[in-house]
Amino acid sequence: MKKIIYLDNAATTEIHPDVLNEMLPFFKKMYGNPSSIYSLAKSSKRGINLARERVAKALNASTKEIYFTSGGTESDNWAIKGIAFANEKKGKHIITSCIEHHAVLHTCEYLTKYGFEITYLPVSEKGIIDVKELERAIRKDTTLVSIMFANNEIGTIQPIKEIGEIAKKNNIYFHTDAVQAIGNVSIDVEKLNIDLLSLSAHKINGPKGIGALYIREGVNISSMIHGGMQEFGRRAGTENVAGIIGLGKAIELSTNDITRKTGYLKELRDYTIDEIVKRIPDTIVNGDRVKRLANNINICFKYIEGESILLMLDHEGICASSGSACTSGSLEPSHVLLAIGLPHEIAHGSLRLTLSKNNSKEEIDYVIERLTAIVKNLRELSPLNK
Ligand code: PLP
Repeated sequence: MKKIIYLDNAATTEIHPDVLNEMLPFFKKMYGNPSSIYSLAKSSKRGINLARERVAKALNASTKEIYFTSGGTESDNWAIKGIAFANEKKGKHIITSCIEHHAVLHTCEYLTKYGFEITYLPVSEKGIIDVKELERAIRKDTTLVSIMFANNEIGTIQPIKEIGEIAKKNNIYFHTDAVQAIGNVSIDVEKLNIDLLSLSAHKINGPKGIGALYIREGVNISSMIHGGMQEFGRRAGTENVAGIIGLGKAIELSTNDITRKTGYLKELRDYTIDEIVKRIPDTIVNGDRVKRLANNINICFKYIEGESILLMLDHEGICASSGSACTSGSLEPSHVLLAIGLPHEIAHGSLRLTLSKNNSKEEIDYVIERLTAIVKNLRELSPLNK
């Protein structure tokens, strides 16, 4: 098989060998149900406890505030619906941004069927919300502000500290979708005044189908999944033991060396962007060049379609994306690129490359060389290129 160059780490990541090693015994010898009382089951329970400690430590939270879920999507759903329904006597107004992941946007849309009102904050052309607009949007009946930590398409990092302060001052809960930020940015829920935080293992070299929701102690939130007494009686269902163990190890590994990892990635990211812009005319770099995830590159190439670039890159063994994995397959351009003010025809020509610390400069040089040729060929065929 041809060597694969994987540049789609915002979609998902390769499992880390140490993560897999810690998970494997829980598929084999240590298969006990953590709710049972015999010794076999106790190893499962101990594994879950250790994972909860590791997640709590990564966020500067306490173990009682960490709840395991099936991933980022469930965590977002629980945070938003759970706060909305538990606090509806206080009010039915929620503030979010127009560049959230669909796990947030579609959940908010669903709530409108139950009489909730949603304010979608716009973003600047760099993809960042204006905290003054947030302050202006707050009403007496606002119960929740849900703003993502970092965007999955253009990598912009929001002013989370300021948002947390505003929410606290106004006695409103603050939820952040940190699925893309975790492991890339240091997160301290205390310092940042975060009340609820969603995360997912498969973005940080952990397994798919497992995530967590941080819920600050004392937050008034309804449960979404009813049944047994697992997860402190708030999220029922026999635990995904191996997945939880994997998440715990993945978060420990990914948060341990953030500074070193992001230092390397920023250099590689900036080199890639600069080289692409230098070699390929008519390109637009999307998002903020500084307030941006260390591994995110998002560029529009005028006159051509991102999907065609992806197919040709795939032919060369290069995995990339033209938007978020969840929206690819749809003909609509990305809602994020439209929100930063790009016209439809330019938004269609976007390419997202998301790096990992396993990518080398040699790989990047190869990708840039192939990309330059691909864009040139496609443009020669494009009727839009006059
Ligand atoms: N939120 C963001 C910002 C994401 O990027 C993703 C996945 O792409 C999700 C939520 C959903 O996470 P999961 O795939 O674990 O359901």
